[in-house]
Amino acid sequence: MGVEFEEELSSDFARCIGCGGCNIPCPLFNIDQTESSGMRSRIKILSMLSKGKIELTEGILRHVFTCANCGVCNEYCPVGLRPFDLLVRARGSFIDMGYVPLVTVDIRNSFRRAGTPIGDELVKGNWLPPDFQPTKNSEVLFFAGCWMHKAIEVALNTRKLLEKISGDITTIGPSEPCSGALLYVLGENDLANDSKRNLEALISELNPKRIVSGCSLTARIYSDLGFMNLSSYILDAIRYERIKLGKMKGKDIILPIPSCGRDSSFLEILKSFNGAKILDAPEWLCCDCGFTLIYRTDRSLFSRWVQRVLSLAEELGANHIVIEDVGCYAMITEAMQTKGRLKGIKISHISGFIMELLK
Ligand code: SF4
Ligand code: SF4
Repeated sequence: MGVEFEEELSSDFARCIGCGGCNIPCPLFNIDQTESSGMRSRIKILSMLSKGKIELTEGILRHVFTCANCGVCNEYCPVGLRPFDLLVRARGSFIDMGYVPLVTVDIRNSFRRAGTPIGDELVKGNWLPPDFQPTKNSEVLFFAGCWMHKAIEVALNTRKLLEKISGDITTIGPSEPCSGALLYVLGENDLANDSKRNLEALISELNPKRIVSGCSLTARIYSDLGFMNLSSYILDAIRYERIKLGKMKGKDIILPIPSCGRDSSFLEILKSFNGAKILDAPEWLCCDCGFTLIYRTDRSLFSRWVQRVLSLAEELGANHIVIEDVGCYAMITEAMQTKGRLKGIKISHISGFIMELLK
């Protein structure tokens, strides 16, 4: 199959000098330093395609789409290519040309059938009281995001925590739509734009003062809608003493797993606790809803990434992993079919971690 990218995209591919800078922070490359897992190989293949040196095959499409969508490689390119943004543009072009890879068909279909890209079996709002009704003009609208409904304990803790902080929160309830942020990074622009418009209309009707997002990818991609990441909101509450936290009881050695996009709030929250040792996470250690693609389409690759994280935790002597993003928490605990502990290491989402310390 021949491919014709728009001129600007082709000339951006041609600017790549093949230095491999984009592989350095890549979570998938750092599983075992395999060249084909990193961004450089994707850009090289896209460049060869644009020059007509190779033909498009299903294998190539799969390779181009199979990334964890963390976006961290954007900041590591010495010629300023922002390789992840380039990849998102290329994915959009493939979809516009009618080339939808098999690897994303399932995600696209579950979105169309069930309104969420993470699986048909998802029940939205299963953590809310049966008679819950959204309220208008609240202090805080808690946008849960799709994964929150798969990690009910996180949803309940987050809701309780937000209530404690603001006293006046609402959610969209069981009809909360997917934000479309994952679809956007997969190049499904039409579906993503529909989702975004739908969400905007619901938010405007409810008219909250703030929107706090449980889904970090949504906060990262749709900051123009005023979404605030949960950690930023918690950090403000700690700084302005809207919540008071007690001392940590044990001697925790914490390996933090931040959301991708590196808002520093999560690490600042953890570092504000006396008594806990917070380990420095390497640049490749982040995870959020963008990993859904790997989780749903290549479970073995996802499990290898989790094993790599656990080995790192063991090497560094961590006894507690604290995770910022609910999607990351849900995927890790589901993939390992465990809650609470993995290999003797405690696993917490930031909401549960804070709730345990709340006075
Ligand atoms: S977006 Fe993240 S997972 Fe994808 S290639 Fe870049 S660093 Fe790797
Ligand atoms: S960092 Fe930039 S120039 Fe280097 S291989 Fe990656 S995309 Fe190419």
